[in-house]
Amino acid sequence: MANPKNRHSKTRKRLRRTHWKLVLPNMSTCPQCHEPKLPHRICAHCGFYDGRKVLEVKAAE
Ligand SMILES: [Zn+2]
Repeated sequence: MANPKNRHSKTRKRLRRTHWKLVLPNMSTCPQCHEPKLPHRICAHCGFYDGRKVLEVKAAE
């Protein structure tokens, strides 16, 4: 089995993890309510897709 021969330093570990970061999903705006939404998905805010209502959305309040 593959086994590390030498231990990696703290610096080496930290340098590797500098590439480990959070990425925001690419968002587009809803043409109906102008809220941010994921592309090619129904808007969670107003329930519109392709210019028509496809989902009944309950009011947040
Ligand atoms: Zn919307």
